[in-house]
Amino acid sequence: MAQNMSVAPESIQPCGECRSLAIRWLDSVSRDAQVNYYRCERCGHVWTLPKGETDVVATGITPKK
Ligand SMILES: [Zn+2]
Repeated sequence: MAQNMSVAPESIQPCGECRSLAIRWLDSVSRDAQVNYYRCERCGHVWTLPKGETDVVATGITPKK
C-alpha cells in the first residue's frame, strides 16, 4: 500500500491537526494551482503551501473542529 503515496515536490511537514506524517500530496489539484495541496490520510485535514517556498506556514483549509 505504501506505493500509492505521491511524491510531493516540496518538503512535507506533519499534519497541523494530528501531527501525522501520513501525508498525501494532491497532485491532480496542485498541478493547475498556485499552491500545492496536501491531505492528511489520518484525519482528513487539508492544507496548502505556496509552490517553491518551504519556510512558510501551512494554510489550513479544513475548518477547526
Ligand atoms: Zn491529520
